[in-house]
Amino acid sequence: MADVASTVRSAGEAAAADARDVLAFARERFALPDGVVYLDGNSLGAMPVSVPAAVAHAVTQQWGQGLISSWNGAGWWELPGRLGDRLGALVGAAPGQVMCGDSTTVQLFQAVSAFARLTPGRTTIVTDGANFPTDQYVAESVARLLGMRLVRVSPPDLASVLGDDTAVVSFSAVDYRTGELWDTTAITEAAHAAGARIVWDLCHVAGALPFALDEVGADAAVGCTYKYLNGGPGSPAWIYLPVHVQDDVDLAVTGWNGAADAFELAQHYVPAPGIARARIGTPSILAMAALDAALDVWDGVDLADVRAKSLVLTDLVLDFASARLATHGVEAVTPREHERRGSQVSLRMPRAYEVTRALAARGVVGDFRAPDLLRLGFAPLYLSCTDVWRAMEVLEDVLATRAFDDPAYVRDAAAAVT
Ligand SMILES: *Cc1c(COP(=O)(O)O)cnc(C)c1O
Repeated sequence: MADVASTVRSAGEAAAADARDVLAFARERFALPDGVVYLDGNSLGAMPVSVPAAVAHAVTQQWGQGLISSWNGAGWWELPGRLGDRLGALVGAAPGQVMCGDSTTVQLFQAVSAFARLTPGRTTIVTDGANFPTDQYVAESVARLLGMRLVRVSPPDLASVLGDDTAVVSFSAVDYRTGELWDTTAITEAAHAAGARIVWDLCHVAGALPFALDEVGADAAVGCTYKYLNGGPGSPAWIYLPVHVQDDVDLAVTGWNGAADAFELAQHYVPAPGIARARIGTPSILAMAALDAALDVWDGVDLADVRAKSLVLTDLVLDFASARLATHGVEAVTPREHERRGSQVSLRMPRAYEVTRALAARGVVGDFRAPDLLRLGFAPLYLSCTDVWRAMEVLEDVLATRAFDDPAYVRDAAAAVT
């Protein structure tokens, strides 16, 4: 599958593409239920087979037998920084600039608030009005906390709102609804030209496509690890603070783990040098043990191959949708240009909620985004072209037979939609 241009227009072409797949070896690194085509790895990644034993070891041996000695003996104290470097390598950050811990929401608050209060003359925060809710809520809260103004704009239109008063811009690199990938380099340059700082949320980038964080020149970045990085539900997030900002940022949530000498237990906070200041409180070691094992699936994997395969899979879906699903009122909202696409395809259609449920009942798991999107995520390490071709045929069948009319799939306001 090294030839990115390969198009897949039939089950036979899907099988031929799979026969050339240089990432086929990675599939056995994951446990997935039989008969399921899992197209929701952009929400909760599949479980790597190495995770259960690693978690059992951390519980029974490191905790059960080692007790408190494991903070040193099992490397618990160093784990957040060690994981940070492993995560950094997957997004193009040199070592010593990424710290693992807490949630994306907390790390966003840290990054946005630090830059919001860095330059007192600058009183505006910018975010995307279509940003993931948590990103918007954090921006609102920081604005309220510091008495600042919040402006919402779509990333390509950033220049229209930038000014001398812009303190910080907080954007996501991929629109979580449409799957559109923004030009992070150009947008970062525009923010910097206006003297503003920029924070990138890479939740839908890490593990989905190669990224050159150090080259982009972001002032900070954050991301989760439970989507394309398969760390498990609620696995710890990460923050990137490049070397050139580390000494300037005054992080708002200051915990004892991030203090200069954590074990001196001093009365006043003095930040640790380097990225260690991005530590907060006691890290979630069991979740980190799962993540550490989950990251082994990237051993021997070239992210350029991941990207090439992702584009074959998403092209397949876009081509299938325009050729065979348009008659059912389906319209792709994800851009066709490769450089404007993340690793998902969102299809707008009538009755998208019921269609999503009818698909799940047939073993094709995607998700619904209100009001009318079926969102399909593509994790190239565990999906084949044959899987995705089959999923599209099931979707066509659900639409053609109106299987979504089954009362079992009618929306129940009380049912949780995640
Ligand atoms: C998934 C996601 C989050 C999640 O935030 P949590 O604190 O991990 O729940 C935040 N931002 C974006 C853009 C996301 O896609």
